[in-house]
Amino acid sequence: MKAFSYARPLDTADAVRLVGERPQAKYLGGGTNLVDLMREGAEQPETLVDVTGLSGGIEARADGGLLIGAGARNTAVAADRAVRERYPMLARAILAGASGQIRNMATVGGNVLQRTRCFYFYDEAARCNKLRPGSGCDAIDGFNRIHAILGASPACVATHPSDMCVALVALDALVHLQGPGGTRTIKLADLHRLPGDRPDIETELAPGELITAVELPPMPFARTSTYRKVRDRASYAFALVSVAAALELDGDRIANVRIAYGGVAHKPWRAFKAEAALRGGPATREAFRAAADAELADAKPLSENGFKIELAKRTLVAVLGDLAGQAA
Ligand SMILES: Cc1cc2nc3c(=O)[nH]c(=O)nc-3n(C[C@H](O)[C@H](O)[C@H](O)COP(=O)(O)OP(=O)(O)OC[C@H]3O[C@@H](n4cnc5c(N)ncnc54)[C@H](O)[C@@H]3O)c2cc1C
Ligand code: SF4
Repeated sequence: MKAFSYARPLDTADAVRLVGERPQAKYLGGGTNLVDLMREGAEQPETLVDVTGLSGGIEARADGGLLIGAGARNTAVAADRAVRERYPMLARAILAGASGQIRNMATVGGNVLQRTRCFYFYDEAARCNKLRPGSGCDAIDGFNRIHAILGASPACVATHPSDMCVALVALDALVHLQGPGGTRTIKLADLHRLPGDRPDIETELAPGELITAVELPPMPFARTSTYRKVRDRASYAFALVSVAAALELDGDRIANVRIAYGGVAHKPWRAFKAEAALRGGPATREAFRAAADAELADAKPLSENGFKIELAKRTLVAVLGDLAGQAA
């Protein structure tokens, strides 16, 4: 691993200043992804600015919303009473990820910005446009079972690995940022990019911007929400497909619904087409299946991941059936 220096800022302004002064500096959360990438040589920062001591609180707002500091550990968020009561899909998504020890270290900011688990991204000898722009993509004709079926490009077919972000996108979360140019707030759904012809540019963050907090707007019907992750083994594996969903019924009709998919695209995938197909309609298995068909209509399988299309449809139907209280 390349030698680096370590700094602990006094506050968020100090953190932004330290990174702004050093072009090769990076923020350090729990280090559970960044340090692995440094060991592999995929990341080579000269300075790490440790932001784990900043903004780690979780504030339940009187209006029903929630403000989660970027330094909050994943374990603390999943265990928080307001999170579990108001947004159960978020607690479940976090608990579906990694291991207890990793969740104890991992922060909200770091989880949002963790990088893909594409095998070739971690392989020094591979052609990878994300790591070495213009070199090609070994996944497209290679081992691509875990790769994207939606929103991919000829340059990159990687998926975003975070479980937590899938729930955050379904919940319309906002991300608070502080950078050299001041503070701003954007939708989490707008933070991550599709690969296009620049898969090396993964987010809309400006250079040196720090995530200070994630905000969840009030969403009373999110109390009826869940997260389901389908993976190759029961623990310690990334999603092949996952679904975060919240459902509000008015009699036997759907008054409101939020859906996001994980494991299918370069970013957490908000299922707007499925939501539009369902809203105001009947809460039946046929309607759930039609909504899933609409969302996956543009899916494009690679050589080894065609199974994901049917898996994504069936998982959504099962999750909505559970939320609607229907027996399978
Ligand atoms: C064996 C293993 C299994 C895993 N399984 C899963 C899984 O199933 N599901 C899942 O979702 N995740 C999984 N993970 C990934 C894990 O969730 C992430 O490694 C973790 O969330 C990253 O958080 P961190 O605080 O350690 O980030 P770090 O590794 O410290 O940082 C990650 C990135 O975020 C940047 N960063 C950190 N904080 C900020 C901030 N506040 N503002 C701006 N930039 C920031 C860093 O510069 C870096 O680029 C797994 C990890 C391992 C090692
Ligand atoms: S899918 Fe993306 S991350 Fe994986 S090898 Fe291709 S360019 Fe690299």
